[in-house]
Amino acid sequence: MSTLASPTSAPAFAVRRTTAPVPDAERAAALAAPRFGTVFTEHMSRISWSQADGWHGRRVEPYGPLQLDPATAVLHYAQEIFEGLKAYRYPDGSVWTFRPQANAERFQRSARRLALPELATDDFLGAIAALVGVDEPWVPSGEETSLYLRPFMYASESFLGVRPSLEAEFLVIASPVGPYFAGGVQPVAIWVSQEHHRAGAGGTGAAKCGGNYAASLLPQQEAYAKGFEQVCFLDASTNTLLEELGGMNVFVVHADGRVVTPALSGSILEGVTRSSIVQILTDAGHEVSEADVPLATLLAGLADGSVTEVFACGTAAVVTPIGRLAGEGFDHTVGDGAAGPVTMRVRAELTDIQYGRATDRHGWMHRLV
Ligand SMILES: *Cc1c(COP(=O)(O)O)cnc(C)c1O
Repeated sequence: MSTLASPTSAPAFAVRRTTAPVPDAERAAALAAPRFGTVFTEHMSRISWSQADGWHGRRVEPYGPLQLDPATAVLHYAQEIFEGLKAYRYPDGSVWTFRPQANAERFQRSARRLALPELATDDFLGAIAALVGVDEPWVPSGEETSLYLRPFMYASESFLGVRPSLEAEFLVIASPVGPYFAGGVQPVAIWVSQEHHRAGAGGTGAAKCGGNYAASLLPQQEAYAKGFEQVCFLDASTNTLLEELGGMNVFVVHADGRVVTPALSGSILEGVTRSSIVQILTDAGHEVSEADVPLATLLAGLADGSVTEVFACGTAAVVTPIGRLAGEGFDHTVGDGAAGPVTMRVRAELTDIQYGRATDRHGWMHRLV
């Protein structure tokens, strides 16, 4: 065992390296064209929790299967949360992440909502730094490539009673990813679901938990069968207000330069990309508001040309132009159906900061290696 010094003040992580390292040529092949979430690095970070001992056993160990008792609480009651962020390789070889403190804090809010133990920000950042330190060769350097980091926590107690688990496991796994859009940014077609919701008032929509995704899969599958790539959900209370996609927030751009994104309603996930884009657009002189976005108003704006662009955003795909918006009884092309100028500019400005090509004027980048 060796101990890896962490750049934060977090407690140290014990490191147990794999005894069967992946040969360089095999890793190079895996990094050449990684499909999202299919290839994983050789190690994972881990911290255990029990009500009796608190957080303990900070370690990096070889990546591998988890052995779970069939009565493990998460398998029955879905007490689970996760995060998603990326490590970027800069031209000088250094490795950075984007606003990881925001992910750490959101992970704490998600934990509270799911009655899981909160993990200190230093431990969240320390687990990421320790893993990327050991698996640094897995951070790709090609254009728009990155190492996707997936922290998650699950209820690990073997107990079928319905109450918060007295044991939990926190892990971070990492997956090299290529450009989300092979062959350039492509506008997507979105189905607005008026039948299903991903989250409701007082529910878990603002927490990043697997259960929200489970609720979005059937509508997603139905939309896909109709020829659409993603679903946009409406609020569950009135079925009239735009909320977000299954895993991305949405923005609406007006002809006069005003930009609106749905206000955080309690059932919308507060994206780090969303808040960064609000800042970038504000810096660029746009009037940006977080407000209710009634579907009827949006459809009227698309019909009369006062709405020129709609885009979705999130860590995985960064910024995705929406070229078509349809639902029961309507079908609109957004603008001319191609990626609009505001969408493409905000995408370029955000990725320029993330990849170290532009000044990090808000102190968003955090060096790992
Ligand atoms: C993760 C997620 C987002 C995007 O959040 P980012 O922090 O920008 O990656 C948006 N909506 C949902 C439901 C999510 O789970």
